[in-house]
Amino acid sequence: MDREIARLDRLNLIGQMAGGIGHEIRNPMMTVRGFLQILQMKEKYSDEREYFDLMISELDRANEIIKEFLSLSKTKQLEMKASNLNNIIAELYPLMQASAFNENKQILFHPSHITIDIMCSEKDIKQLILNLVKNALEASPINSCVEIITEVDKGYFRLIVKDYGPGIPQEILSSIGLPFFTTKESGTGLGLAICNSIVQRHGAKMEIESSDKGTTFIVHFPQPNCTA
Ligand code: ADP
Ligand code: MG
Repeated sequence: MDREIARLDRLNLIGQMAGGIGHEIRNPMMTVRGFLQILQMKEKYSDEREYFDLMISELDRANEIIKEFLSLSKTKQLEMKASNLNNIIAELYPLMQASAFNENKQILFHPSHITIDIMCSEKDIKQLILNLVKNALEASPINSCVEIITEVDKGYFRLIVKDYGPGIPQEILSSIGLPFFTTKESGTGLGLAICNSIVQRHGAKMEIESSDKGTTFIVHFPQPNCTA
């Protein structure tokens, strides 16, 4: 429990910092990006074009990290409304399937037969699903699939994202979700920290089951009402 509190404190601190400086840093960066693009077109820099590409892509990467920071900084009360979880996933499906196909992987969606209405910020739930699916795809071997399952059980709605990747080694399981914890060369280690913060703001809980046969993230949402 102490660990959980320490984690949330850390998240809040990062959130406040991000909110304060994120926007301010992004604007000048985008100005620099614009001028780099202009200079890149000049004939006299034709031999250096690849350096410009590198500078621009590094700026884009930094911008991506700041964007993720900013989602962590959302401490204000969310605008919650009842939304159909299966519809939210169906809306994201073409986008997720396209990025899976690009890597010879696929996404299977098994929606619950019962309508799942959760009180949520739709934007946040989309971000949660995209982050979990992105990780699942990154862990998935070629020609495998990622499954998204929704189900109803004992007062909870469940969102399940399952992959058939190598799993999360036992020794790092407790660090998963800490801001900046990543095992990827170009990872930010913010994806799951953002998921944790979204899950917490929705009064939900997230569980991880992992073995050498794959990893499953299970999000339990409290069930406000349920219609057949
Ligand atoms: P990032 O993806 O930028 O590394 P995340 O916070 O999304 O940051 O994930 C943190 C770490 O958790 C990853 O670097 C990886 O080691 C581990 N991880 C997350 N999801 C999975 C998964 N589905 N299978 C295996 N490892 C995972
Ligand atoms: Mg990630």
